[in-house]
Amino acid sequence: MRILLFSAAVALSSLAAFGQPNGWNDPFPPHKIMDNFYYVGTKELASFLIVTPQGNILMNSNYETSVPVIKANVEKLGFKFSDIKILIAGHAHPDHVEGDAMVKELTGAQVVVGRVDEAKTREFRPGGKEHPIDRLVDDGETVTFGGTTLTAHIMPGHTRGCLAWSTTLKENGKSYYTFIECSLNGRFVQTLDQYPGILDDFRATYKKARTFPVELWVSSHASFYGMAEKYAKLEKRGPNDPNPFVDPEGYKAHVDEYEKSFEAALAAPAQGKGRGQGKGKQDK
Ligand SMILES: [Zn+2]
Repeated sequence: MRILLFSAAVALSSLAAFGQPNGWNDPFPPHKIMDNFYYVGTKELASFLIVTPQGNILMNSNYETSVPVIKANVEKLGFKFSDIKILIAGHAHPDHVEGDAMVKELTGAQVVVGRVDEAKTREFRPGGKEHPIDRLVDDGETVTFGGTTLTAHIMPGHTRGCLAWSTTLKENGKSYYTFIECSLNGRFVQTLDQYPGILDDFRATYKKARTFPVELWVSSHASFYGMAEKYAKLEKRGPNDPNPFVDPEGYKAHVDEYEKSFEAALAAPAQGKGRGQGKGKQDK
C-alpha cells in the first residue's frame, strides 16, 4: 500500500511538472516581436498574434485558464480579441490547445489544426465542450490572410503531427525568415504518446530542423527560446541595437541541445525496462 501511494505521488508530481500550470499561466507583458507579430502568451506558454488589415490570427490558445490572460494581453496592445479571425491550434497537448473552444466561443475564429494531430486534438474537451476544428492542414500547406502567409512544416516526435510554421517579417527595410517552432522536446520521451516510429521521427525532425534558413525564431514555450531574456533586451534596445529575437545561432544551439537531451533520455538506464522495442530502435 505504501508503495502504491508512493508511486501515485510520483505520478502526480511528474504530472505537475509536465502538464499543470505551476506558474506557467502567470501573466507576462505582451510585446511586439517584429512587424505585425506580437507575443500575447503567459509567462511560459507562448501565444502569438499576427495583426492584419483584415483581422488577426492567434497561434496557440494554451490551457482554457490561459485564455483570459491572452485576451488581456491582446487588449493591452490595443487590439480587440473579437478581431481574431483565425486560430491556429498548437500541437495536440492540453497546454497548447485546451483553450481552443473558448477562443472559438469568444471570437468565432476559424480553427486550423494539423491533420495528423486531429484525433488527439479532439480529445481535449474542457467542460465536455466539443473541440472545434474548421480546417485541417498538411505539411507544406499555407494559411494566407490579410497579406500574411504562414507555411506549415511537419516536425513529428513530440506529437505525431507537430507543426512548425514559417513566415517572413520585415524591419527597417530588411526581411527575416521567421520560424515558429512546434516543440523539439524529447527530454521526457517516455511520457509522450508512444506511436510506432516515434524515435525515428524525432531523429528525422532534428535533421529537418537544421534545414530551415532561420533568422528570427520563437517556440511554443517561452523558456525554449529564452523569451524573458530577449524581452529584457528588447526593453533596453537602442535605435542601433539588433532585434534580440533575430538569433540564428541561438536556434542552431537550441536544436543541438534538444537533440542531445533526447538521446540522453533514451540512453538513461531507468527506461530500459519494459521498453524493449524502444531500446532496439535506438540502435538504428
Ligand atoms: Zn507539448
